[in-house]
Amino acid sequence: MSEERSLNFIEQIIEDDIANGVNDGRVLTRFPPEPNGYLHIGHAKSIVLNFGLAQKYNGKTNLRFDDTNPVTEDTEYVDSIKEDIHWLGFEWDKELYASDYFDQMYEFAVQLIKKGLAYVEDATSEQIAASKGTPTTPGTPTPARSRSVEENLDLFERMRKGEFKDGEKTLRAKVDLNSPNMHMRDPIMYRIKHAHHHRTGDKWCIYPMYDFAHGQSDSIENITHSVCTLEFIPHRPLYDWFIKELEIFPSHQYEFARLNLNYTVMSKRKLKQLVAENYVNGWDDPRMPTISGLRRRGYTAASIRALCERIGVQKRDNMIDVGLLEFCIREELNRTANRVMAVLDPVKLVITNYPEGQVEEMTAENNPEDPSAGSRTLHFSNTLYIEREDFMEEPPKKFFRLGPGLHVRLKNAYIIKGESVEKDADGNITTIYATYLPESKSGGDHSGLTVKGTIHWVSAAHAATAEVRVYDRLFKSENPNAEEGDFKDFINPDSLQVIKEAYVEPGLLQAKPGDRFQFMRKGYFTVDPDSTSEKVVFNRTVTLKDAWAKVNK
Ligand code: ATP
Ligand code: MG
Repeated sequence: MSEERSLNFIEQIIEDDIANGVNDGRVLTRFPPEPNGYLHIGHAKSIVLNFGLAQKYNGKTNLRFDDTNPVTEDTEYVDSIKEDIHWLGFEWDKELYASDYFDQMYEFAVQLIKKGLAYVEDATSEQIAASKGTPTTPGTPTPARSRSVEENLDLFERMRKGEFKDGEKTLRAKVDLNSPNMHMRDPIMYRIKHAHHHRTGDKWCIYPMYDFAHGQSDSIENITHSVCTLEFIPHRPLYDWFIKELEIFPSHQYEFARLNLNYTVMSKRKLKQLVAENYVNGWDDPRMPTISGLRRRGYTAASIRALCERIGVQKRDNMIDVGLLEFCIREELNRTANRVMAVLDPVKLVITNYPEGQVEEMTAENNPEDPSAGSRTLHFSNTLYIEREDFMEEPPKKFFRLGPGLHVRLKNAYIIKGESVEKDADGNITTIYATYLPESKSGGDHSGLTVKGTIHWVSAAHAATAEVRVYDRLFKSENPNAEEGDFKDFINPDSLQVIKEAYVEPGLLQAKPGDRFQFMRKGYFTVDPDSTSEKVVFNRTVTLKDAWAKVNK
């Protein structure tokens, strides 16, 4: 976190609270994921904020699984969420589950019934919705609203015991049917769901609603600053109402703008659909905006944290350009990634005046941005692979690469001159012939020649074969959520290109999953866990420059 930047509005609130001795200056935040999917970059924003606040103000952060909906939740998600938070670089104080508070919440509900502030409803959800009125017209009480405390206590207990079917009854808070805030018009606190819960098993068949569970969980844990996204602003009066009526620890809710990223979707429901319907290869597909997808794509935790810091904490919803995320990783990898040579679209190059069978060792610097990264040895011989696009038979004027009669430098080696080509029956070039200037060796060049272009290469006899997965944006549309029709209609059909035979420096066979490199002139790449001892699989993290804007605008 940079020291110079001004305080964000939540930091300002906390500093005021500390100055005023609120909660004796104690800061306890929480990150409350629902374990119904993998975490995405939006969650990272919330994690960086919640854990960051605690770090800055000498406080703590609880990890609380908001597991009040038995139908969609699973332990697979619990495990992935924990892994991702750790990977992002944060440590929670306590690992907690809203479901651990089910007994306490039930007691709270009973307390409200006894105060005449909750009642068992018989109406269906449609009937309830109709009776609530509209923001400008008052609601009408249902007959159940005037039930006696005794009857409510009895019915609520029978709800818990499983005497009713799903949807047959609900427990509602008796707040205000005339409130301009629809959330205050007797919201549902409990619903019946005869469903197995991943932690509480079959103990419960009634489950608390978000509004009843969330604030009460905050309060049970003595959370001081409960930070959530803007859509919960209209829920805040209810959050405060429950706390006031139950006379429990006064946690406070504060809202900030959620992180939205263009060219992707972020709702877990939609991400789940992409996985289930095989549009992607799992939650950690490198095209996904999930933390695990970004990790597999080659993003570092630091680059994701850097994005969150850069965006800051805002009070208005906005859309972040994915280019900013790419900028963050490029900036880091430019400093940290070793440069290597990899030929993604290979064509053979034979140097006719270089002795056949001779092998020379060339020294190559690993990272010009970081002298401490050292150097490595490359093998040079008369038969190399270069990129097909680096040769043109009839080059235009400003083509500073290879062509008949054109000079170019082979990185870390010699200057060569294009001579002739060999083609197959279809007219495709199969071999390029060139000559080299023996006196032009990198580091001791006395050829007297200046060439404008430098190209990368690998020695054919020494190169290792690699599979390279080149990713592009998952969606063609900047905001698939705002398009008419199904968001899946806007998936980019070219979001994955697989290169089965690329040639790379043989040293890369030793690379481990997660290692990151700059393929010179090609972009930043990371080793995928699908790699084997014979074949390394690389994922393209990001190009060297932002190419999207040029092509698509
Ligand atoms: P979804 O709507 O995709 O299911 P959610 O908000 O229901 O997401 P939760 O697991 O409930 O997901 O979220 C855990 C925490 O992360 C919440 O505090 C939520 O406000 C926050 N969060 C979720 N998405 C974003 C986002 N895009 N930007 C910032 N915070 C987010
Ligand atoms: Mg949620």
